Amino acid sequence: MKHSREISEQRVQGVGMTSMRTRKRLIDRLRREGIANEKVLEVMLNTPRHLFISEGLEHNAYDNTPLPIGNDQTISQPYIVALMTELLLGDRDCLDKVLEIGTGCGYQSAILSKFAKQVYSVERIRELQLDARRLLKQLGYNNINLMSGDGFQGWTTYQPYDGIVVTAAPREIPQALLKQLAHRGRLVIPVGDARQTLRVVTRTLTGFHETTHLAVRFVPMLQGRA
Ligand code: SAH
Repeated sequence: MKHSREISEQRVQGVGMTSMRTRKRLIDRLRREGIANEKVLEVMLNTPRHLFISEGLEHNAYDNTPLPIGNDQTISQPYIVALMTELLLGDRDCLDKVLEIGTGCGYQSAILSKFAKQVYSVERIRELQLDARRLLKQLGYNNINLMSGDGFQGWTTYQPYDGIVVTAAPREIPQALLKQLAHRGRLVIPVGDARQTLRVVTRTLTGFHETTHLAVRFVPMLQGRA
């Protein structure tokens, strides 16, 4: 169990390599690399990424790199988390319901929770889902709903969603996710195998509009529960 200890306010704030000063350096870098949504940058500054990664790696928490979170999975690179959040929002400030596929350690869920009334997140590895649930609860997030299941099916109970973020790469866009998108809703998803690109699909009155962004590298989206 990674997060069994009570988390003190001091641990949340961080010291040394997890301090506000170190975090600000990361935020400046994200801004330089093109992240323009200041609210996204502010939320990333105030979210303690060092508490979401495997113990012993805290000193790397505010580097712009992916890091291990256990069970052969990784927390996404901060730039990618910021970019996906920015793309999901578009010109909207806050969304009603957001679905995330691939909870992992819960870091992106925590970011998304500041831009949505409710976040729903599905993870296929039960152990990761339980760790994320414990940590998010300890940190006081109360609008994040977690389920262990297969994200290829989405989460039908609460559809339609104003935004869907997928943090593992399928070979093709899952039809079930398109179906669960609200009108004007956006799906942000890495697609591909050895070569992946980040896509944004927007639901319009007549169908779907798709744009392709940069080349990315995500863990594969796998069928079924682990
Ligand atoms: N958003 C996460 C990123 C985790 S990596 C974070 O901030 O930490 C991607 C996650 O997607 C992994 O935990 C992996 O187990 C999960 N995943 C892969 N295929 C899936 C599927 N079909 N359904 C749900 N989760 C899946």
